[in-house]
Amino acid sequence: MDAVDIAVVGGGVVGALVAHEAAAAFPYATIAVLERGLIGQGASSRSAGVHFPRGATARVRSMTEHSHRVWARLAAELDLPIRALDATVVATGDADAVAATYLRLGEETAPADPARGWAAPPGARAWRLDGCHYADVQGVAGRVLAGLRDRASVLEGTEVTEVSSDGEHRLGLGGGRELVARRVVLVPGPWIAHPAWAALVAPLGLRVKKVVATHVEASPAPDDPLTIFHDEDAFLLPLHERGHFLFSYTCDRWDVAPDDVGLALERSDLDDARAVLGRFAPDLVALCDSGRVFCDAYSPRREPVVAELRPGLVFAGAAGGSGYRLAPAIAAEAVAALEPTPTRILSQPRQRQA
Ligand SMILES: Cc1cc2nc3c(=O)[nH]c(=O)nc-3n(C[C@H](O)[C@H](O)[C@H](O)COP(=O)(O)OP(=O)(O)OC[C@H]3O[C@@H](n4cnc5c(N)ncnc54)[C@H](O)[C@@H]3O)c2cc1C
Repeated sequence: MDAVDIAVVGGGVVGALVAHEAAAAFPYATIAVLERGLIGQGASSRSAGVHFPRGATARVRSMTEHSHRVWARLAAELDLPIRALDATVVATGDADAVAATYLRLGEETAPADPARGWAAPPGARAWRLDGCHYADVQGVAGRVLAGLRDRASVLEGTEVTEVSSDGEHRLGLGGGRELVARRVVLVPGPWIAHPAWAALVAPLGLRVKKVVATHVEASPAPDDPLTIFHDEDAFLLPLHERGHFLFSYTCDRWDVAPDDVGLALERSDLDDARAVLGRFAPDLVALCDSGRVFCDAYSPRREPVVAELRPGLVFAGAAGGSGYRLAPAIAAEAVAALEPTPTRILSQPRQRQA
């Protein structure tokens, strides 16, 4: 194969959803997913995989609604590794702001559970939040692409080293190999500065931030909820399959590179996580001793970005730590951005090459 209608560069969860959406939108188009490692081994492999119906802006709330519906449908259709769970939002600030941020906020509940060693800062309030789940994100990406094998070529171990455009797009694949694509979606997760597209992506003003989640060595009870600490942009997640909790907090270390950020926690990561966790669950602090580290791309507006960089060459990403939960909506926007010309070109059976 040396020519396709649509090339998806990056085989993380967003790339997998882009391929899925493109296959549905353009039933006759030939599609290739190009991944330099294995599917889902980038940011997707470290993800906590939490979906909660939240959005700070109208666009993100709408993306959340769309993604919520798609995940529910795909979970059933593809038997995805997704687990629904109860959730509670704890906040000390303005209750109206909380209500405006979360979709499906339920009744008010107790902000602390002393039986589990939970404290709550003075003035804290809590509400039930419906519609949450968490996923094995790498597993989801793999399963989505497994379901597409008759529609899309999935080329792992294939690094795109160069992108040049002249009506069509030539993707250098190293070792003298090349793929020509009519349309390209770049879905590189935090690899925004890869030399093949750094100059094209630079005007978007994206930055890469370290993302950290610590592991808490306590066994979750079957009905333990996800607890979202709204003011801190943090959450405590029961990871039932792994037998421990995960505590995600906001790490403020910017301008890291995915190939350099390292996979080990630094002492300061643990200290920062414990300081936040200690405000709500002091008994868990001593059990917070390990975790996972990576990074993600963020946009200046803190919303995902879908942008045409050249005619027929679309960037999709900058998910800002929400790339799992918003992947279906990002994919829908990316494929819509391919629409104007390809609807005509790509929805016709492709001429077989001699
Ligand atoms: C610790 C942690 C916790 C998180 N928790 C959550 C959460 O609870 N909920 C949530 O919604 N999000 C969460 N996120 C964010 C989420 O994981 C990411 O936003 C999401 O995985 C991004 O997916 P992606 O497909 O865009 O990127 P990636 O998964 O990074 O995929 C990009 C792929 O592109 C490939 N690639 C790069 N360069 C090239 C090249 N030149 N040629 C070919 N392939 C290339 C990479 O190998 C990689 O596989 C978390 C992230 C981290 C790190």
